[in-house]
Amino acid sequence: FCWRNASRSCQVYRKSHSISQQLNAIVHNGRPDPGKSADASGFLSGKTVAVKDNIVTKDLPTTAASKILTDYIPPFDATVVKLLQQHGAIISAKTNLDEFGMGSHSQHSHAGAVLSPFSKNGVPLSPGGSSGGSAVSVATGQCWAALGTDTGGSVRLPAAYTGIVGFKPSYGLLSRWGVIQYANSLDTVGILARSVADTKHLYGCINAYDQQDPTSLSATVRERLGRKGADAKRLRIGVPLEYNIDELSPVVRATYLRTLNALQNAGHTLQPVSLPTTQPALSAYYVLAPAEASSNLAKYDGIRYGYRTPGSDASAKNNLPLYASTRGEGFGEEVQRRILLGAYTLSSEAIDNYFIQAQKVRRLVQRDFDSVFAQQHPLLERQAEIPSDEGGVDVLLTPTAPTLPPTIKEVKQQSPVESYMNDVFTVPASLAGLPAISVPVRIIGREGDGLEETDVHDVGMQLIGQFGDDELVLQAAEVVV
Ligand code: GLN
Repeated sequence: FCWRNASRSCQVYRKSHSISQQLNAIVHNGRPDPGKSADASGFLSGKTVAVKDNIVTKDLPTTAASKILTDYIPPFDATVVKLLQQHGAIISAKTNLDEFGMGSHSQHSHAGAVLSPFSKNGVPLSPGGSSGGSAVSVATGQCWAALGTDTGGSVRLPAAYTGIVGFKPSYGLLSRWGVIQYANSLDTVGILARSVADTKHLYGCINAYDQQDPTSLSATVRERLGRKGADAKRLRIGVPLEYNIDELSPVVRATYLRTLNALQNAGHTLQPVSLPTTQPALSAYYVLAPAEASSNLAKYDGIRYGYRTPGSDASAKNNLPLYASTRGEGFGEEVQRRILLGAYTLSSEAIDNYFIQAQKVRRLVQRDFDSVFAQQHPLLERQAEIPSDEGGVDVLLTPTAPTLPPTIKEVKQQSPVESYMNDVFTVPASLAGLPAISVPVRIIGREGDGLEETDVHDVGMQLIGQFGDDELVLQAAEVVV
């Protein structure tokens, strides 16, 4: 597999208008103009932004890639969409995803799988998920930038797999009003773009308090966040030991090591740190996210909006009530799996062993992070002082995923649990609500690192910061790329 060839074929795609159809990245066209409230001299004037189809858009279909929301046309715009338009952006398209955001490869969609523009020996690679449509649209130049949602990695992973930037801000900064819920306590709107500068630009336009979202951070809390005049010139970079796992592929490991070396040579300090709850974090995530999902998705009953199995209770198939047959037909296999999982872990016989334990693990994950950052969490008490000889770090650097994107063929052979493993490096920051960004770092094969000398890859590297330290994470990202 040669990324250089893949990049070349991406150039060809850029010229083709039908690329979105070929790759199935887009599910509906957007609005040709920014609308009446748009500021023609706005910050985003004339810029095309694609929006993941689980973010509602007034008078444009919004399906979350689910049959159960077939023909649903929302009567309002999500706050983030409204803000984009107010700044003059053109909502150019609604993008394909894993149904309700559940997946890591954008293959579980009622609209069909998303294809990556990149391939290995002629077999398409995974575009990553669940914001795969947004990532592919950006990577192929179909839009300037895109919105995605990140519950456990769904912006960072597709960014890493398609060679672009994917940013998940701190929980509570970007409004979730109008974002179709998957797991409310984790869901975050994120940005996909081709550069950190573009990411910052878009972020500045949509980062605002929203009274419609009860978890939106108020102006007073926002004032306490981050460091005034954060400076990324001399970073203290934490290297979490638990991210050095056997499953790291040689390319990812080599890129990680080279990036760390380059940062050290540029005058930044590296500090090994330990985040012991990293491994249990993945299991905790896959208990908590389905639990919240099963509760959230209970409202899709075919009565109020979306798809309904034809007929009445009496005539419904297999003597099932209308509600059951509608949900059986309306939800795809992966969503049904998550609903069942969540219903089980919330049931009276299992809640103590699963849901409650997972909440405890979540708290430990938060504490792990808190014990390594120099900056104190602005909303939590510090549990233990950082030993003064260590001093704490500004950001953590890790790979975004353990491997390069698998091929679609390999993805199809994976069991659900194998596919959940892809998220091992992205879910911890989600559980703790921390800002995290994936940036592409190019590696060219060199003798001695196990790579072919002709190999060229763009590998996703992830930076994680303390809660509210979003500005510093973005600055540090500019240092890394
Ligand atoms: N792959 C993870 C999941 O399936 C993350 C999804 C997301 O962030 N929306 O839950």
